[in-house]
Amino acid sequence: MRPRRGPAAVRAPRRLPPARFPLVGPGLRGLLPGVLLAALLVPPGGAEARSRGGDGRYDQRRSRHFVLYQDVDLGRRGRSRASGFEREILAVLEAAFDRTERSLGLRPLRPIRVVVHDPAEFERRFAGLFPFPAAGFYQGTIHVRGAPAVDGALASVLHHEYIHAAFGAVAPGLVLPGWLSEGLAEWMGARARGWRTLQAGEFEALRRAAAAGELPDLVELSAPAFGGLPADRAGLAYLVSYALVQNLAHNHGVRRLRTFVAALLRSGDPDRALRRTYGWGAEDLERSFRSRLLH
Ligand SMILES: [Zn+2]
Repeated sequence: MRPRRGPAAVRAPRRLPPARFPLVGPGLRGLLPGVLLAALLVPPGGAEARSRGGDGRYDQRRSRHFVLYQDVDLGRRGRSRASGFEREILAVLEAAFDRTERSLGLRPLRPIRVVVHDPAEFERRFAGLFPFPAAGFYQGTIHVRGAPAVDGALASVLHHEYIHAAFGAVAPGLVLPGWLSEGLAEWMGARARGWRTLQAGEFEALRRAAAAGELPDLVELSAPAFGGLPADRAGLAYLVSYALVQNLAHNHGVRRLRTFVAALLRSGDPDRALRRTYGWGAEDLERSFRSRLLH
């Protein structure tokens, strides 16, 4: 899952120099409330006719690894713009596929289903199911709150949710700790935008939380999902998770991160995979992260 509005820090445009603190923690995947499952059983409407968008009728288009349904209201020229819009989304998804295979070694064998909803339709169907405004979530199918154009924010959400889908496809049943599944998803979402380091605002938000003793601890971060947390705690949990994975990748390299994921898929045990790959476990990672934020 991906919150729509992260902490204020997330919006700060200034980039930080390469991360100065190493770290990382345990892994997981988000579980959604049962009520959401019910909502998801309603399939998108018929795809046979090209709709105007925003009317609950979803157009379908396929690419090599994805089946896309979309219903975004693209304005007066919606019908003529839809094909280009769908091709752009599929191009982003295929880029996510390639990037994820390259950096994490994950390669789903079956097409992934993706639904890009008109924002109003997304709110109508899913608002209230999460304690914070959601930009997208994965539950067998990727669901994303659409936008009239495929911008960096939408590309980032698509990458984020694709990571959840890729784990779901490659390792069904594997439940990772939240810090790992959301951290990897956020990390890939940031890479979609070309971001290789934390933003200044993100770093400051972490420092402030650490100084105030408000950083989520490993127990909180190890829940399979953050959807049950209050909005402010969830924002921080996503941010810490991202920082842990970002620093793992930055300080030890993406190749090693890929080795870690391979070990994770073999053992199904994040802590064991960490120890095998890096020589220390989630507690060490989290402790190191916390102490470096405070110094
Ligand atoms: Zn997520």
